[in-house]
Amino acid sequence: MTTYIKPEEGLTSLSAAELAAKIHAGEVSSREVTQAHLDRIAETDEALHAFLHVGATEALAAADAVDSALAAGEKPASALAGVPLALKDIFTTTDAPTTAASKMLEGYRAPYDATVTRKIREAGIPILGKTNLDEFAMGSSTENSAFGPTHNPYDVERTAGGSGGGTSAALAAGQAPLGIGTDTGGSIRQPAALTNTVGVKPTYGTVSRYGLIACASSLDQGGPCARTVLDTALLHEVIAGHDRFDATSVDKPVAPVVAAAREGASGDLSGVKVGVIKQFDREGWQPGVMSNYHAALRQLEEQGAQLVEVDCPHFDDALNAYYLILPCEVSSNLARFDGMRYGKRVGDDGSHSANEVMALTRAEGFGPEVKRRIILGTYALSVGYYDAYYLQAQRVRTLIAQDFARAYEQVDILAAPTTPTTAFKLGEKAEDPLAMYNFDLCTLPLNLAGLCGMSVPSGFAEDTNLPVGLQLMAPAFADDRLYRVGAAFEAGRA
Ligand code: GLN
Repeated sequence: MTTYIKPEEGLTSLSAAELAAKIHAGEVSSREVTQAHLDRIAETDEALHAFLHVGATEALAAADAVDSALAAGEKPASALAGVPLALKDIFTTTDAPTTAASKMLEGYRAPYDATVTRKIREAGIPILGKTNLDEFAMGSSTENSAFGPTHNPYDVERTAGGSGGGTSAALAAGQAPLGIGTDTGGSIRQPAALTNTVGVKPTYGTVSRYGLIACASSLDQGGPCARTVLDTALLHEVIAGHDRFDATSVDKPVAPVVAAAREGASGDLSGVKVGVIKQFDREGWQPGVMSNYHAALRQLEEQGAQLVEVDCPHFDDALNAYYLILPCEVSSNLARFDGMRYGKRVGDDGSHSANEVMALTRAEGFGPEVKRRIILGTYALSVGYYDAYYLQAQRVRTLIAQDFARAYEQVDILAAPTTPTTAFKLGEKAEDPLAMYNFDLCTLPLNLAGLCGMSVPSGFAEDTNLPVGLQLMAPAFADDRLYRVGAAFEAGRA
C-alpha cells in the first residue's frame, strides 16, 4: 500500500485561507504557491492520475497577474486571490481542453468559459488544470474515465471515489488547496468522504450550470471542495450567485456561508437539532463506517446538539428513482454528441451517410456505462413505458422531497454516513453496475429533492484504516447551516 497524502510541511500543506493570508500580506507570492503545487503534481500525479490536463503556463500567468496587482497596491480580487485550484474537467475553459473524460470530446476546445470558470478567474484564482472524472460524470469510482482511473492518495490500489475522484485526490495529495466538483447524485460528497476532504453540493439553482457539460440537468450542481470547511465556504462564495445564462439559476442572495463557517469554528452546537435518518443507520454496512458514524453523532451531542431520530421511508426507493430519472435525462442531453457538432467524428470518408457517421461516432466515442444509460433512458422514455417508468420515478421524487420536508419540521439539519463503506479496490465493482450504483445509496435522495449537503471528514474506519465522511443535509437555500455545523464538527474533532 503506497500513500501519497499531503506533506506535513511547506506551502502544499497549508489551507487555502492560510495561503491567501500569506499572499495578501506579501510573505509569499502567488507564483511561488502555484509553482509549489505544480511541483507536487509533477511529483505525484504519475501514481495518482488526478489530472487529465495541467496548464502550468496559464496558471503561472494568472498567478503573476495577482502578484502584480498586489504589488501595485490593489486590493485582492477576492478572499482567495492567488490561491490555485483544480477544476473538474466538465466545466468549459477556453485555454485548456474540456473532455468530460470522454473520447467523444478528445481534442475539443470550448469557445467560451463556464460561468464557474469565469468567476474563478475573476476572483484571481489560478487554475492548475482539469481533473479526472467518470465519463460525463457517470460513475462512482472514476473507472469510467476514458483516460484511466484516479488512484486514492491514501492507498493507490483503491478508488478516490467518483465521479469527481480527480479533484478529491488532488486535494488529499496536496496537489491543490482548492477544487471544484459537480454533484448529480453524490459526485462531490462521495469522493470527499473517501479522501478525507470536504465537499459541498450547494442547493440546486444556486451555482450556475452554464458551461457545465450536462449529465442530468435537473440534478447537476457544481460545488466547492477543499481540505477545510472554511476553505470550502470561501470558494462557495466565489462561485455561487444568480446567472442569467442558466434558466434554472435562482435570483436570491447567496447564503452567508463564510460567516457561518467562522461561527461554527467555536464548536458550540447548543440549540441545534440534528436529525438522524433511520433509513441510513443500517446493519450490513461496513462496521468500521457505522461505528465511526455513531461516534460522530455522539460528538455532535457532546458539542450541544440535540439528536432526533427521523423517518424518511421513501429514501429506500431513491436508488431506483434516480437510476431511471438520470438515464432519461442523459439520453436527451447526450443526443448532442452526434459527431456533427463537437469533438469526435468517425467514418467521415465519403463512403458513409450522415446517419452512419453518427452511429459510428457514438459507438466509438462513448464508453460502456454511458451507452448503458443512454439505452436505458431511451427505453424508459419510449411510448408505453414513459408512464410506468419515468412518471412513476418522478412521483417517487416528490415523495422523497416530502420526506425531507417533514424531517425539517422537526430538525434543523440531517446527518447520515456519506458512503456505506470506505474506498473500495479499483476493479472490485467495475464489472458490476448494480454494486456500483448501490454505493450511491446515501447521497442520492438529496439531489432528487434539490437540497444542499456536505461531506466533512470524520476520521478513519477502525477496520480498514481508511477515511470516512459524515454527511450533513440542509433545506434548500440554508447552505449556511451545513457550514455552521460542519465547521463545529471539524473543530470538535481537532
Ligand atoms: N454515482 C452517481 C452516478 O453515477 C452520481 C454521479 C454524479 O454525481 N455525477 O450517477
